[in-house]
Amino acid sequence: MDNRRAGSAMLGKRLPHVVVVGAGFGGLETAKRLAGAPARLTLIDKHNYHVFQPLLYQVAIAGLVPSQIAYPVRTIFRGQKHFDFQMGEVSEVNLAERYLRLNGSVIAYDYLVLAAGGRTNFFGLASAEQNAFELKSVETAVAARNHLLRMFEVASREADAEKRRELLTFVIAGGGPTGVETAGALAELIRLVLARDYPQLDLSDVRVVLLEAADHVMGSYPQGLREATLRLLRRKNVEVLFGSRLTDYNGRQVTLASGEIIPSQTLIWTAGVRANALMDRLGVEQASMGRVRVESTLQLPGHPGVFVIGDAAYVEDDQGAPLPMLATVAQQQARLAAANIRRLLHGDVPRPFRYRDPGLLATIGRNAAVARIWGLSFSGFPAWVIWVALHIFRLIGFRNRLVVLINWAWDYFFYDTQVRLITRE
Ligand SMILES: Cc1cc2nc3c(=O)[nH]c(=O)nc-3n(C[C@H](O)[C@H](O)[C@H](O)COP(=O)(O)OP(=O)(O)OC[C@H]3O[C@@H](n4cnc5c(N)ncnc54)[C@H](O)[C@@H]3O)c2cc1C
Repeated sequence: MDNRRAGSAMLGKRLPHVVVVGAGFGGLETAKRLAGAPARLTLIDKHNYHVFQPLLYQVAIAGLVPSQIAYPVRTIFRGQKHFDFQMGEVSEVNLAERYLRLNGSVIAYDYLVLAAGGRTNFFGLASAEQNAFELKSVETAVAARNHLLRMFEVASREADAEKRRELLTFVIAGGGPTGVETAGALAELIRLVLARDYPQLDLSDVRVVLLEAADHVMGSYPQGLREATLRLLRRKNVEVLFGSRLTDYNGRQVTLASGEIIPSQTLIWTAGVRANALMDRLGVEQASMGRVRVESTLQLPGHPGVFVIGDAAYVEDDQGAPLPMLATVAQQQARLAAANIRRLLHGDVPRPFRYRDPGLLATIGRNAAVARIWGLSFSGFPAWVIWVALHIFRLIGFRNRLVVLINWAWDYFFYDTQVRLITRE
């Protein structure tokens, strides 16, 4: 089917139906950008809320509660005309017949935007998949929080020094931005907050270990920022083990390819992401990490009414390198996908995608961050202030922004995080 036919749904009397799968960064932006378009819009997500994933690690280290980084989808779209939200997990997409299956029923579409995101990539390491914690959803972040805090409770009544050290060794796999941010924040939580809650524990028993297979952290960052990140991590007492490839984790000990064993009851896996499993069931060409190859216009080859965006899509930059799995990529692609659907609705030709890199930003705890903005690389307090401001600004909902701002200000001045609850899962 060509672009002309993809646009012909407009010619009929009924409004064309646009279905967007996923209310993450890409799907949400697409649906917002389609407000007022001559189409009926259905947004689908397995959760009834949007999650601001960059702050999931804050939930895991007991800094924020889930409701502060998530927002109900229906509230976001209150008042948007010709809009419907369906909660459920899409189990199948039939590209030939142009329908998808949701909660046992069938939803037909004229245009489809697949923004189903990614999932944790354990690279086939079943023992890690079974026993490690991941930071990919509210549920997994809360599970990690409960576990981390429980380790301190159990350690506080453990008389055996060796077992206590095993309980108080926290291993994080993956020296990318998520691993670095988690390790820095966890080390800080222990040193500034938990040390006061558990005065009977000897802090020298505690280890926060960051495993990285390469010889540097933050692979996608410039050399200067990688070095600054390492300095900041070491200042927070994070042990960074370079060239360390994890080969097994049985829930009690981490085994590295070198044969080294680290006794630990906690492994947080941040070492990789791959496209959502739904992409594997489409029967279309996939590139690295299971991402779906799309045209430069973000259309699925042979299916001009279907767009794939965000973590699920494989798009290369001008140098032929795959675009990273980032919220900024997903949101920019969403804007183009929405604009291209509008073009098709009006019988126009869709335009190609070009990523405008807004820079890089990661925090390593209090007063510590690294940034590359407008070509300038810097680290320390100024980068941290920008990180805080930007993350508060990007949260959805004024109330969430205000609450997070007050929360962080309280933590900053009183060295005390608000939520240290161990809840039942
Ligand atoms: C811990 C963490 C930290 C991160 N930090 C940063 C950062 O600092 N900066 C940055 O730019 N990026 C960051 N990212 C990456 C960023 O979150 C992703 O690149 C971005 O979320 C991708 O957007 P997306 O729309 O493709 O998918 P997502 O935002 O993941 O949204 C996918 C949505 O689809 C829904 N869904 C999935 N499958 C189905 C189905 N079958 N049926 C119905 N609904 C479904 C999911 O519930 C989800 O809401 C981070 C990611 C993580 C996990």
